[in-house]
Amino acid sequence: MSNNDKAKFAFYWASSCGGCEIAVVDIDAVILDVAALGDIVFWPCATDFKYKDVEGYDDGFIDITFFNGAIRNDHEEHVAKLLRQKSKVMIAFGACSGLGGIPGLGNFYTTEELFQQAFEHSPSTVNPDNVRPQPSYDVPEGTVTIPAILDSVRALDQVVQVEYYIPGCPPQPQWIAAAVTAYAEGKLPPPGAVIAGESTVCDECPREKSDEKSITEIKRIHLVENDPEKCLLEQGIMCCGPATRSGCEAACVVAGQACRGCFGPTDEVVDMGAKLVSSIASIAVPETQEEIDALMAQVDDPAGYFYRFSLPTSMLFRSIHDMTEGQ
Ligand code: SF4
Repeated sequence: MSNNDKAKFAFYWASSCGGCEIAVVDIDAVILDVAALGDIVFWPCATDFKYKDVEGYDDGFIDITFFNGAIRNDHEEHVAKLLRQKSKVMIAFGACSGLGGIPGLGNFYTTEELFQQAFEHSPSTVNPDNVRPQPSYDVPEGTVTIPAILDSVRALDQVVQVEYYIPGCPPQPQWIAAAVTAYAEGKLPPPGAVIAGESTVCDECPREKSDEKSITEIKRIHLVENDPEKCLLEQGIMCCGPATRSGCEAACVVAGQACRGCFGPTDEVVDMGAKLVSSIASIAVPETQEEIDALMAQVDDPAGYFYRFSLPTSMLFRSIHDMTEGQ
């Protein structure tokens, strides 16, 4: 295969913690297969390609762009559209890109509320003149610009068309390798597919499940000792396994932590929060509405917990958004 025949890959990092970039390196020896298969033509985290280089590529020049991070500002929106134009295949890479992720929790607040917290009320902020970041600022040397914050955080497919999703916070190496291998063999699934498992984390979790009504109170995992053999949820510890797509081999649960839902919902789950509430209710000992309300009131920040990675793409956010728009 000559260099000209090699596939072209791009990686981009929008609003995220950067863990997805580490996950790429974490594919271990598979990275040699990637190198044999293709050339990297854009990867700001690791290479010195410029935006101008990407602008100069023909449309569709890049075979696959692995785009991690949510869209929080106008620069990320611009780059998402640019890479879409230049790429044959866009992969929403990681929970933030696919679902909105942790940055998406910002959608519980208005931009003004977020700015007030960050630049006025935060305990570590000293800002007597109430200075706020400006998208554009004139200095003697010229005009300095920074990206402007958008009104809400969006997942990648709420900005551009996306062909595939590799979920996770961060994505697991085996699914990155699976995507690269499928591409190399011409066996990519139909567009829209999530490259991960198809069942739930519960299905691959080794803990014993009795399916009996067992929750009498909600407990926080770091405040109690749990039975390492038994289902966490049945012990009253919030675990997102029943609503979360499989493919991680229940890594967090095996390591002694509850599932946080980073692989997002399965195809059967319409809304993660609703599914989790019904999972809890189905094994809760309390039966009357008042008793169940009292039990659920013990969940600290239920909306933040149940939609930790998926708020921008959830029914809950669409409802909040529609209500706000209607005001
Ligand atoms: Fe395992 Fe959590 Fe599912 Fe229980 S709820 S089976 S601990 S993944």
